Amino acid sequence: MSLDMNTVFILIVLGHLFSVVLISAYWRTHTKDRTLNIFLLAKVLQGMAWLFIIMRSGVPDVITVTIANSLLFAGFSLEAVSLLKLQQVFQRSTKIVYIVLTAVIAISFHLVVIIHNVENVRVAVASLGTASLMVWPAYKLLRFRQSSLMMKIIGLLYATAILSLIGRACIALNFQETIGLYKPGIYQNLAFLSLFLIMFIGNTGFVLLLKEKVDHELLRLAHYDDLTGILNRRTFVMHANQSITQHAKTKDPLTLVLFDIDHFKQINDTHGHHAGDRALQQLTEQIRLQLRGADSFGRYGGDEFAILLPGTDEAESDRLVERFRNAIAQTSIPEIPGKLSISLGVVTLVPDRETSLESLYKLCDRALYDAKEKGRDGAVRTCVA
Ligand code: GH3
Ligand code: MG
Repeated sequence: MSLDMNTVFILIVLGHLFSVVLISAYWRTHTKDRTLNIFLLAKVLQGMAWLFIIMRSGVPDVITVTIANSLLFAGFSLEAVSLLKLQQVFQRSTKIVYIVLTAVIAISFHLVVIIHNVENVRVAVASLGTASLMVWPAYKLLRFRQSSLMMKIIGLLYATAILSLIGRACIALNFQETIGLYKPGIYQNLAFLSLFLIMFIGNTGFVLLLKEKVDHELLRLAHYDDLTGILNRRTFVMHANQSITQHAKTKDPLTLVLFDIDHFKQINDTHGHHAGDRALQQLTEQIRLQLRGADSFGRYGGDEFAILLPGTDEAESDRLVERFRNAIAQTSIPEIPGKLSISLGVVTLVPDRETSLESLYKLCDRALYDAKEKGRDGAVRTCVA
């Protein structure tokens, strides 16, 4: 089967064009993302390269080849950069590597055009160059610690495209036969397939990856407190309820601790809201360092926090509460001279099927109130009747 390459190129240009229009229309109203802009620029450059190839009639080959390939190298380089940025593995050093790599590929290609302008050598250099640009993002997609299944599939598709490009370069170098894109035959079909694969993964894959990243961010916003990074109230309540139900079944003890920063309003008034925010961040970090894997820590609102200690009896929770108080006492915040303190309310029980977080919270809140009444900087334990 032989393909009419002009039709193929027109399809590729249209594919790029439609994806650029659709992606920009969608994301214009959803998010302003620099990574997306880089990806769109990559697609525009690649689309322009293919358009240039279609409209080559009348233009000397050397000009078409030079311009189209330069646009393609820049386009694929930016596509790789946007993929790395999406995975948050793009650093300053990566930027330098990509600038140098793209320059080396473009210079090598043009040296071939100037010194030894044979189509098969050009094909080999262009294919290897494009493949080398894609290696790092493909590897990261496949091997990244937090790679989702979708990332791995997209990584695998990129790896397939890389292998087919390397295969094409090997064939070009080892056979006398010309295997340019305009030459009908099996190589042309293979070349078209890998082009199509790259376009398909590039467009669909990128949108899916971007969506996955945004979903992840939304989940984070839905579950965690923005300022301190610990659980928000809603998620803490959900975790705590699950834990209570489970402990009611196993008849193990658990402890709820509520604490509130002493005279926090005064801290805000004296040192400013920004210093107050810093205090909230540092204090929660100090407490977090004292917690064990199964403990839940949430911000209930303002300067009030809750900690659920599963499987923890009175003696153990007394020790932990003392550690929390000490950790806070030893925290120094540059913007706030003097010591900070917290007051705590503690309740420990073996829950039954009737126990609810609401009832525990009421008991704990009462104890916290008593701790404040007693002069602050201390803990009060409530006994469950
Ligand atoms: P007490 O010892 O009785 O707890 O006194 P307090 O001044 O800490 O009183 P209270 O707990 O009622 O005050 C909470 C203050 O926390 C009031 C509010 O201005 C401040 N606050 C609440 N949320 C934030 C926040 O996100 N950032 C900052 N900087 N301040 C906050
Ligand atoms: Mg307070």
